[in-house]
Amino acid sequence: MIIAIDGPSGAGKSTVAKAVAKKLGFSCLDTGAMYRAIAWQALADGVALDDDASLGAVARTHDIAFGHEAGDPAPKRVSIGGTDVTDAIRTAEIDRAVSPVSAAPSVREALVEQQRRIGCGGDYVVEGRDIGTVVFPEAEVKVFLTASDEERAHRRVRQNVDRGIGSIDFEEVLTDLRRRDDHDSSRATSPLKPAEDAAHLDSTGSYIEEVISRICDMARAKGAPVADASVGEGVR
Ligand code: C5P
Repeated sequence: MIIAIDGPSGAGKSTVAKAVAKKLGFSCLDTGAMYRAIAWQALADGVALDDDASLGAVARTHDIAFGHEAGDPAPKRVSIGGTDVTDAIRTAEIDRAVSPVSAAPSVREALVEQQRRIGCGGDYVVEGRDIGTVVFPEAEVKVFLTASDEERAHRRVRQNVDRGIGSIDFEEVLTDLRRRDDHDSSRATSPLKPAEDAAHLDSTGSYIEEVISRICDMARAKGAPVADASVGEGVR
């Protein structure tokens, strides 16, 4: 089964995806990390961020790998071409580079193919921008997750403080989120938009637990295991 969670930056997709995956015994796929890894590699190789053909070559010739720890549904590490870039892909520099890189059609083509290959291998909660519309239009559960701009910026600042990477200036983070949302929503290929059959959920305020329960209920209605892997045994 595929649970597709799309939405703008900082809407809580990762937190929700991890919690849902844990409860249902699914794995997580963070497609944003894949676009970030390609952006990192493109900068490292000095590839111009508007050069579609060269960016596509980067995406086709560098393997992206996720490192899992036993029992954890979400990977802890991400590498590209054998280099661990877990922290390097969360910097402000990558925040700026990833929008043009992800707008390149040849990059999207290469990564969508990889995402489908991974997702076909099992039960996945897949988060991104185009999962319900393009990558897995047949996903059993589709969610479009939003939150207010200010809340999303506050969350991103807290996350950056925790990780010790990225900007911790609220205004700067807010401006960057809005810029990325505009870019992601207005690009020609696979823009950020809700699938027609997506459930719209808002995570503003303290509703994250509610959002997680709603998604688990939707998945169970489509045949996902009823057992809660976070409180019991027997679920992968
Ligand atoms: O989710 P995250 O903020 O890490 O994503 C980083 C960027 O990757 C987004 O701003 C967007 O440009 C791109 N992205 C995308 N399609 C996806 C996932 C992420 O274009 N499915």
